[in-house]
Amino acid sequence: MAHDQIETMRKQIDEINLQILDLINKRAALVQDLGKEKLKQGVNGFDPERERQMLNLLVENNNGPFSDNTVRHLFKQIFQASLDLQKDDNKKVLLVSRKKKPEDTVITVKGVEFGGAEPIMIAGPCSVESYEQVRAVAENHVKRGLRVLRGGAYKPRTSPYDFQGLGVQGLEILKRIGDEFNLVTISEIVTPADLELATQYIDVIQIGARNMQNFELLKAVGRLNHPVLLKRGLSATIEEFIYAAEYILSEGNTQVMLCERGIRTYEKATRNTLDISAVPLLKQETHLPVFVDVTHSTGRRDLLLPTAKAGLAVGSDGIMIEVHPDPDVALSDAKQQLTIPAFNEVLDQLLASGLYKGEAAVSRR
Ligand code: PEP
Ligand code: MN
Repeated sequence: MAHDQIETMRKQIDEINLQILDLINKRAALVQDLGKEKLKQGVNGFDPERERQMLNLLVENNNGPFSDNTVRHLFKQIFQASLDLQKDDNKKVLLVSRKKKPEDTVITVKGVEFGGAEPIMIAGPCSVESYEQVRAVAENHVKRGLRVLRGGAYKPRTSPYDFQGLGVQGLEILKRIGDEFNLVTISEIVTPADLELATQYIDVIQIGARNMQNFELLKAVGRLNHPVLLKRGLSATIEEFIYAAEYILSEGNTQVMLCERGIRTYEKATRNTLDISAVPLLKQETHLPVFVDVTHSTGRRDLLLPTAKAGLAVGSDGIMIEVHPDPDVALSDAKQQLTIPAFNEVLDQLLASGLYKGEAAVSRR
């Protein structure tokens, strides 16, 4: 008999549980609708005064056996869970995300498709040092059918006493050579004040790793109608990298490409640690073209070819690599730049691997 009584009471408790469940879900749905209505009217979702009123009403009507404190605690949990639901509903879908735009962004510059059907090689010296130096690389580009030339005119160096770049003079050299050889030029700009001028000289503005979270620079570049290559910050998470790109798109500039260039870890065998999984991840999460800079990530000539192959194999839209006519006397990154013959050897190996098809056929229309 006693046993039957326990069973009956348990059944009653089950019944009440289900009623509570039904009620809190009904409540949650109502809160969701309210949230949508508030959003429409531009009213803030959370109203602390309203929450206070609800708690007071509950405590006033509390006949126990729960204490007032327990009632407050229980209902605060319910309020919070409903509010969290509202937040999920209102969570902004990022402009850079695949959810927002399922199809790939393709950026076409001088007939070169960044993020198009075939991967692109972005190559050139670390720094623009002279017309002759850049011209030597450009002539090889033309011989090898390459279309994209990089070179730094403003160099964000670790030490203020190191070569800082030729500045506008460097941009002028890039402009002259870009026009002469019909090459797409890429160069880093480090301050908003130089952006307008830079758009007249170079085809793609690079935002370097050290400036990935320079939000004023990101916003300023976002207000341009000019292609941008954004490099991953020295220790930036993927989320921070994606938000940095979102800064640019949020200001209206949709011509953004990303570049994985290695991140700082405890490993010292390479200059940085190339985060290869970042490539498929960024391709999944965003619709932007993704490149892999093998020079700054590894800092080692012997690793450029295998890491370039890896980058292409995991779906990158191209590779960035530094090449200099005489790396031993380069004014920056002397240790890791390739000579022109060594660069051509890497190119041959990549072509032989089938991962890279070259650009002459795909882009010179
Ligand atoms: C560069 O590409 O010239 C450069 C300085 O790279 P990062 O910003 O990735 O260090
Ligand atoms: Mn460099």
